[in-house]
Amino acid sequence: MRKAAAGWGQAPKRGINRTMPDTALVMMLVAAPAIGSFLGTLVLRLPEGQPVVAARSACPHCHHPLAAWDMVPLLSWLLLRGRCRHCGAAIGAFYPGMELAALGIAAAAVMLVPAAVVPWSCLLGWALLALALIDRRAFLLPDVLTLPLLALGLAATAVLDTEALPAHLAGAGLGWLAFTLLAAGYRALRGREGLGGGDAKLLAAGGAWLGWPALPAIMFGAAVLGLAEVLMRRLQHYPLTLNQRERISCCSFNRLQSNIRSDDSIRTDIALGGGGHRSDEPIAFGTWLAAAIWLLWLFGVPGA
Ligand SMILES: [Zn+2]
Repeated sequence: MRKAAAGWGQAPKRGINRTMPDTALVMMLVAAPAIGSFLGTLVLRLPEGQPVVAARSACPHCHHPLAAWDMVPLLSWLLLRGRCRHCGAAIGAFYPGMELAALGIAAAAVMLVPAAVVPWSCLLGWALLALALIDRRAFLLPDVLTLPLLALGLAATAVLDTEALPAHLAGAGLGWLAFTLLAAGYRALRGREGLGGGDAKLLAAGGAWLGWPALPAIMFGAAVLGLAEVLMRRLQHYPLTLNQRERISCCSFNRLQSNIRSDDSIRTDIALGGGGHRSDEPIAFGTWLAAAIWLLWLFGVPGA
């Protein structure tokens, strides 16, 4: 049995599965790479305040205008082996990556949610993809994306499960309130910003899509993913060999006393807490909020 998307009830709605023709599902999959290409332009240009209307229309290297054929998602990149047809400059994997990611989101929706929910799920997933990457690149969650996403969540609820609308309205309000209060508390305690205002609006959007009971799961999921990133960064920045780790853990005190080589002493210092990920190094928390919202939408809130 297919699991219902988390926000709209305990069990899938009867008869909702076949209200959307399969051709419409195929259309979502066919459109996905082109939408991914547009999202790529959005991710690159929105934080810089550049116009987003036209997708890439010229080669960034030789500025030769691209023909329609050059802009066929995925296929053109594969056929030209990632190079510009005119100057031969490497085009890079960013756009094909975006096209694949958008396709993956549509495919996940088709496989995991009832057919009538697929178009809504695609819109949610594509918007979250753009937000996640913009926050990662620019530490920014633009209102022009979060606020329409919030409204869209309420619209989806009104269409798919009207009775749940109060719970989703409460989700939007409480989500915004939770992070706004948390940010105010952090500011009062530490004297600096811990959470951006964009995070509160994204959590509000998550509440609008999933309903207020999902808010703790969204916040917990995002926190776990964010902590995992902190741990990964520590491991990547300071790769210790197994041998070094053993020596440090066994006899770090002795090694600090002895005449050790300078690079070893730096590593020892790090392993003892003298370095690594500093607590004020920013994490793009919106990226993990977006990921948590998407996973909970697809797989449901545990225990709900
Ligand atoms: Zn070129």
